[in-house]
Amino acid sequence: MFSYSTTTLAFFNAFRTNSDLRLQASRELPGLTKELKSDKSERMERVEHGTDLFGEMKQRFLSFKKHKYMQNLELYEKLAKDQAPKFMVIACADSRVCPSSILGFQPGEAFVVRNVANMVPPYENGPSETNAGLEFAVNSLKVENILVIGHSRCGGIRALMSMHDDVETSSLIGSWVSVGMNARVRTKAATKLLNFDQQCKHCEKESVNCSLVNLLTYPWVEEKVRNGELRYSRRLLRLRRLCI
Ligand SMILES: [Zn+2]
Repeated sequence: MFSYSTTTLAFFNAFRTNSDLRLQASRELPGLTKELKSDKSERMERVEHGTDLFGEMKQRFLSFKKHKYMQNLELYEKLAKDQAPKFMVIACADSRVCPSSILGFQPGEAFVVRNVANMVPPYENGPSETNAGLEFAVNSLKVENILVIGHSRCGGIRALMSMHDDVETSSLIGSWVSVGMNARVRTKAATKLLNFDQQCKHCEKESVNCSLVNLLTYPWVEEKVRNGELRYSRRLLRLRRLCI
């Protein structure tokens, strides 16, 4: 567990040093081999210019291992065997909205699903990675709390509010954010006199509400909520003033 050097790096080191592996790769995946060579030279160039971001990641990992993992060995050994988080968190994939950083979740405390615009599709929409995660968290991990976190200046919400009403979208983003169409309709009805930015701000809240409504369309969520075994809540993170 938590062994960057024995997983990711081991693979790449083996790939670089094992001629059989290289040969096999060159036979089967010439494109990949070419890309890896290109990646290597690009990486060397970055190192020369002092911006080896992957190297920096490795240093961060080693620092984590030394200062967090080794200092809490008992906890991490327990986590290596099992997890029993009390929370499921659904948050936007936006790089500024990291639930663990903002809310201080430690490893093992929260099962997190992040997607564009922190949306929960309704049950009738069928499978998605978000509701697969929801099913696992609720039925297998038996989390006791679900928290949906929205945020200001959300690109996904702007995409939702920018869509044309009568045009079928071929965009993957458009297809996904249309999950929040009810939030968009309610926003448009309530904010006719407001400008686009203000409408988006309104929709950020509506979309989180919509996600909570959609949560209850899952029979096993609704049942657990009704029995008091599961609670749900929402938060909206304001990035500029950093309040939630
Ligand atoms: Zn977002």
